Amino acid sequence: DEMDVDTIWQDGEFVDWEDAQVHVLTHGLHYGTGIFEGVRCYDTENGPAIFRWEEHLDRFYQSGKPYDIDIPFSREELTEATKELIRRQDLESCYIRPVAFYGYEELGLNPSNCPVEVAIAVWPWGAYLGEEALEEGVDVSISSWRKYGSDQIPTNAKTTGPYVNSVLANLEATGNGYTEAIVLNGEGNVAEGPGENIFLVRDGELYTTGLAESILDGITRQSLITIAEDLGYTVHDDATISRGELYTADELFFTGTAAEVTPIRSVDDNEIGSGTKGPVTDELQTKFFEVIERRTDEYEAWFDYL
Ligand code: PMP
Repeated sequence: DEMDVDTIWQDGEFVDWEDAQVHVLTHGLHYGTGIFEGVRCYDTENGPAIFRWEEHLDRFYQSGKPYDIDIPFSREELTEATKELIRRQDLESCYIRPVAFYGYEELGLNPSNCPVEVAIAVWPWGAYLGEEALEEGVDVSISSWRKYGSDQIPTNAKTTGPYVNSVLANLEATGNGYTEAIVLNGEGNVAEGPGENIFLVRDGELYTTGLAESILDGITRQSLITIAEDLGYTVHDDATISRGELYTADELFFTGTAAEVTPIRSVDDNEIGSGTKGPVTDELQTKFFEVIERRTDEYEAWFDYL
């Protein structure tokens, strides 16, 4: 098939890509009652390694809690399934997508009688916003769609249904010729990107929006905070960032499993800094890629080799 992979793990079995199917009356299809993860496996100097797999697994199980989704497989089973999928398909680097959702039993809102179905797919995936984006930065716009508050939907859970908010924001931005959106929260302050966290650089210090700003606590965000602090930067990881502060920032960048570390060169057609990747972003991005390609011994605990 077009993704160059032929096997998916579904409910405990390895199945052919075209056989990995669900019933049309799947609860999660109707009400978005699913949770998922996005993880990357990198082709490192020491062979393929999954980046921060334990933290992704933690978040996967925790995402199920508000919805009473009890994943009926152990961490070891999910780990072995994932590694076996990557090995079988001879992938060196890939994106990993675990998903768990309420399947079909009955279609009332209460899903407690529905089975929890689980699947894992892996496929090669390059730079999410493009190779050029990593070098030159992306042009973004403020979305007219606000991020839902964590008093409406838990934003620290990675739930399938609420991603319609991200889809709307991304469609609007790309429809208007931008590469990505920045979404404000209910208070009108900066939340995050539709699939990315955001960092701001001002006077040599880093700011990233705090968990109370209705964000997903990104694992790349956490990694960047650690890397930046270890490089000697002051990081304000519980910042409230107003819309206006974006325009006057020295530098801005996105972080995410898919987006990695992507500079933002303009917001609503206003150039940020010099309108290209700034020096702090460059230092952090360079370090990030050194780490994930294992050209350093630091942060070895972040890697799970196949
Ligand atoms: N925010 C949202 C809404 C996301 O979908 C993602 C991607 N999972 C992120 C932030 C970044 O999280 P991570 O670094 O764990 O991929």
